[in-house]
Amino acid sequence: MKFKLFKTVTFKLVLLVFVALLALIGTSLLFNSQIDKLKSQIDNLYFGNFVPIVKLNNIKNNYKSIISCRTMKYICDFKKEEKIILDEWDYYYNSYKNEKERNVINNVDLALKETFKVNKLHIFKNIVKKIEFLIDYETKTAFKQRKLFVEEYKKMKDYLFFNILLLLILTFAMLAYIIYQVVKKDNQLRVLNTKYKIDSITDSMTKLYNRKYFDTIFDNMPFISNANNWECAFIMFDIDFFKQYNDTYGHDLGDETLKKVANVLKEYFNNKYEFVFRLGGEEFGVVLFDIDIDILESCLKEINKKIVDLKIEHKTSEVLDFVTISIGAIMYRPNTYISANKLYKRADDCLYKSKHNGRNQYHIFKGE
Ligand code: GH3
Ligand code: MG
Ligand code: MG
Repeated sequence: MKFKLFKTVTFKLVLLVFVALLALIGTSLLFNSQIDKLKSQIDNLYFGNFVPIVKLNNIKNNYKSIISCRTMKYICDFKKEEKIILDEWDYYYNSYKNEKERNVINNVDLALKETFKVNKLHIFKNIVKKIEFLIDYETKTAFKQRKLFVEEYKKMKDYLFFNILLLLILTFAMLAYIIYQVVKKDNQLRVLNTKYKIDSITDSMTKLYNRKYFDTIFDNMPFISNANNWECAFIMFDIDFFKQYNDTYGHDLGDETLKKVANVLKEYFNNKYEFVFRLGGEEFGVVLFDIDIDILESCLKEINKKIVDLKIEHKTSEVLDFVTISIGAIMYRPNTYISANKLYKRADDCLYKSKHNGRNQYHIFKGE
């Protein structure tokens, strides 16, 4: 039973840890893919726009120096510029372009290659315009890409924030659940423990303390009395002619009567230092701490009367037509060092005297 309980709690904990681990792995994979995406965006921005613009500007500047040289009517050798232009163009031409862009670039490519064959000023000026168009186009695309990147970046930031929030909530919920489970189990065990403790000292039929608990309290009575300087009392009760009662009214009614008598004792002796026990069968015991003999005597007188006043019919009793009890009691005075056994024996003798003298009465030990 205990093992099963432990198993279910452990299983739930393992499951929770497993779920948390899965969540962590999942989120880290997602974070990773987001960061990869961000990196490719930066690459796009850099290699897709920034580098082509630099290349195109280089081409434009070299064309411009050719044009200015030609405008001055110098004899120009522009082999160096031509090489730079062709190299830069080659890089630009081979970079990734979509179909539409490719068509435009192919046209520019033809025109550019043509410039050096024709070698005319207006052709150079013309190609510069085309290059400027491309620079303009690349710049605009770069702006678009940047906008896209910023949007994507914001999205990712939100995404990260909500993921962390979710993880925090999940962790918090897990902790709360574990604490709740532990507290719940702890409370259940505490309740069971208390119930077990009460059950182990209670007589199931009369709900009085049982014989086992009596032994503990009674054995310690002299020590408690000595330690506190209390006078204490031990009282024995026995229902009169109970065998005849059972024979006449049946065992079930006998049980009911036992419970009624037990209730009278329980209700009467209900203070902190008063303990009522079922000693066995139709016999009860009471231990009273800190009591004097006059009070004890009036109590016993009252108890005899209270039982008669229950008016439980007992036609076969030789005492009255109602159920009665006989009582034997003894006082223990501090530091008299009489053993628990001897106290019991003397109380039992007093009970015997009550029985012998006609029942429905009490006797208190007054010395041998
Ligand atoms: P006395 O006045 O001398 O005490 O006579 P008595 O008949 O009460 O005493 P005896 O010891 O001869 O019989 C006690 C009876 O108590 C016998 C038994 O059947 C009955 N008894 C003991 N325990 C229980 C119980 O739990 N339920 C019922 N119904 N009867 C019980
Ligand atoms: Mg008896
Ligand atoms: Mg009896």
